[in-house]
Amino acid sequence: MRRFKRYLICVDSELNIVKNDKAFLSYLSMKKLHNLSQIIPPPDIMQLQNCMFAIGYGSTNLTCFRVKTGNDSLDWFAANIEKPENPEEPIQMELSDIQSMKSGSADSYYDKMTGLYNKNTITEYAMELMQSKEHKPFYFFLMDIDNFKAVNDTFGHMKGDELITEVAHIAKDIVGDDGVVGRIGGDEFMLILENVSTEQDMRRIMMTIRKTVEEKYQDMGENVCATVSMGGALFPTDAMDYESMFTLADKMLYIAKTKGRNRYVFYSPLIHGKVVYDGKVMTISQNMMMNREKSTLMTDLMDRLLITHELTAEEAFEKMICGYTLDEIYMADEDGEKSYFGLQHNIDETGKSTFTHNELDLPILKSGELDDKFDSSPISVLGFDLDREKNPNIARFMKKHDLRIMVLYRIKKCKRPGYIIYMNHTQSTCRLSLTDLADLTYFSHMIEISGQCN
Ligand code: GH3
Ligand code: MG
Repeated sequence: MRRFKRYLICVDSELNIVKNDKAFLSYLSMKKLHNLSQIIPPPDIMQLQNCMFAIGYGSTNLTCFRVKTGNDSLDWFAANIEKPENPEEPIQMELSDIQSMKSGSADSYYDKMTGLYNKNTITEYAMELMQSKEHKPFYFFLMDIDNFKAVNDTFGHMKGDELITEVAHIAKDIVGDDGVVGRIGGDEFMLILENVSTEQDMRRIMMTIRKTVEEKYQDMGENVCATVSMGGALFPTDAMDYESMFTLADKMLYIAKTKGRNRYVFYSPLIHGKVVYDGKVMTISQNMMMNREKSTLMTDLMDRLLITHELTAEEAFEKMICGYTLDEIYMADEDGEKSYFGLQHNIDETGKSTFTHNELDLPILKSGELDDKFDSSPISVLGFDLDREKNPNIARFMKKHDLRIMVLYRIKKCKRPGYIIYMNHTQSTCRLSLTDLADLTYFSHMIEISGQCN
């Protein structure tokens, strides 16, 4: 059970719940919660209402209150309350259970100036994620404002403080439910993207933060502009403990700065080399083995599938499953109800890969929800960020099969049009990079033109 509990809810000015957090309801052991007064005792509710009333539109404030839990005890919570600029929009509350933390007050939990988590809190948050049994993958980034001293020197410290606070809010709003942001130093921040399933989504978030800051502060006057640089890596693929992750992200941030600032750099062994960390010194050797192995695999498959015809599609699928750490692969007809071919990857106690054939019910193929997923590309990547309301069948299917990511390739150029479907489960530590997705596209195309899916 995680000690660090954090929930995001939205309320109106009367404290009616507008958006709930399922995890919060289960923490309270309640099925429904209509108004915060149901769980916060009267003196604390008064204080919360006063605090909310005092917040201007577009501003945030911190407060503490007690919450009645399922076992009738009262737990202290810290809340970071954000009133949007538009009074019509709901008020956002980030609730953190400070009872379970080492520190006991909102002040020792948050950074007062920005309202973000402070260094201790976000560090503890990251460590706890790393130590949790689930070992769930997440993206870890450090962010630093570029040439910030020039802002202080030109416009004074007050303006500098304002910029730090605004950049903090930009990052927090863009990261939203996908993760947490903390301030770890003067103009330095830590970002943990724990609910982002693909590298593509992570890149979209980082690019949006970079662009938003650039656009807002490209001309602050007196020839001063403010931008941000970010450096990061993926847990646990790139670094498995806090120290090495921080060091690696810091190295990537340094590269972002030296390359000219106003950019993010995400660690890639192909570009930056393999990491060797002895607990004190981190060396990144220019070792491209991992990716070289993948490209050798691709050319080998190309030769043996298309030229010498030595491999069956099934043998090629097994090699792809191992090379790219996939969990399952299926082939199905365009509007098939079931797959006509399927392979599941299992790893035995000795670490050896074994495969089992499987047949899968595929109600998603007939649901029509895939129709708009292949505009210009034969490949479609479906992940955590799927719009559940627009794609209820796909969402249900992914939930049922416990999938974190599903990659579909549309087969058109053969007598038997249909799909190749690649799946990874939620507990999989594998993250498909953009180059991996390109490799899956080429590989699928090879299968398509090999004549083995007719
Ligand atoms: P770089 O692009 O290399 O990051 O250069 P920089 O000018 O941003 O330099 P650096 O990040 O090393 O310096 C951050 C400065 O922020 C140093 C310090 O004077 C200032 N600073 C630290 N805390 C605060 C604060 O709370 N408010 C303000 N206004 N300034 C701060
Ligand atoms: Mg800086």
